Amino acid sequence: MTAIDTLAVHAGRTGLTEQGVHAVPIDLSTTAPLPSVHDGGLAYEQMATGGVPLDGQSTVYQRLWNPTVARFEDGVAALEGAAQAVGFASGMAAFSAVLLAAQSEGKTHVVAVRPLYGGTDHVLASGLLGNQVTFVKADGVRDALRPDTGLVVVETPANPSLDLVDLNRLVADAADVPVLVDNTFATPILQQPLKHGVAMVLHSATKFLGGHGDAMGGVVATSAEWATRLRRVRAVTGGILTPWPAYLLHRGLATLPIRVRAQQDHAHKIAAALASHELVAKVYYPGFPSAIHCTWSARR
Ligand SMILES: *Cc1c(COP(=O)(O)O)cnc(C)c1O
Repeated sequence: MTAIDTLAVHAGRTGLTEQGVHAVPIDLSTTAPLPSVHDGGLAYEQMATGGVPLDGQSTVYQRLWNPTVARFEDGVAALEGAAQAVGFASGMAAFSAVLLAAQSEGKTHVVAVRPLYGGTDHVLASGLLGNQVTFVKADGVRDALRPDTGLVVVETPANPSLDLVDLNRLVADAADVPVLVDNTFATPILQQPLKHGVAMVLHSATKFLGGHGDAMGGVVATSAEWATRLRRVRAVTGGILTPWPAYLLHRGLATLPIRVRAQQDHAHKIAAALASHELVAKVYYPGFPSAIHCTWSARR
């Protein structure tokens, strides 16, 4: 097995040597030539239904597929240990596509474990995308399931409280309902949720994956089946990631392991300093061995 540090610098970069380049080319074409109207139609159908372009097939239109975006997706899939990944214009575009894809067979009910990122909580609670939602604590998932439950949503560590959820238990409680984990805070360097049996892993790539505060994007790492459903939603609703941010986010992956380790080191020191400060009542930091429910009291 390739070490994750090695994967981070190589994943999504196949064929560059053959192209005679070191850095990933940025392909800005919105439109690709069609060999014929007939072949163009077949290629469009292939991708609009969630497929990827076949060998030698036209990529038709950037909303369907883009090679720079695909490289970033391959990079994230490799780091998360996923078969595939699907890139979106933002984390919220990614989550919206998951909600729509999960509802496609009439299962419009979602069980969502709170706390969740504010935007995620908002889109769920608003019902704007046609879902019903039951909000629960992590131990309430099993009782909240209904015959029309199509998705369980969880974030661990949660933004911003850093609450942790035991993914093995959650997946067992969700039974045959697919589980989506928002892994934005942990990153695949610290946690790879697919190993625990979840169906989909979502990132706001805007945060740690990109790492420099200059590019917005979202991505879902998952099985080939779910990726096909997500690409279909993406093709028709248009939330695809575009090549410039895809390039920057992909570049960010190369330093992800080093950055995350440095941030972990600093976070530990800051948490320890805060915990010993007389004016600080409580430190929310899951890295202390004594962390129970992710909170740690400085008042011993
Ligand atoms: C920022 C964030 C999102 C939303 O992502 P955007 O890229 O801002 O749309 C989702 N989940 C978590 C945990 C986040 O921090």
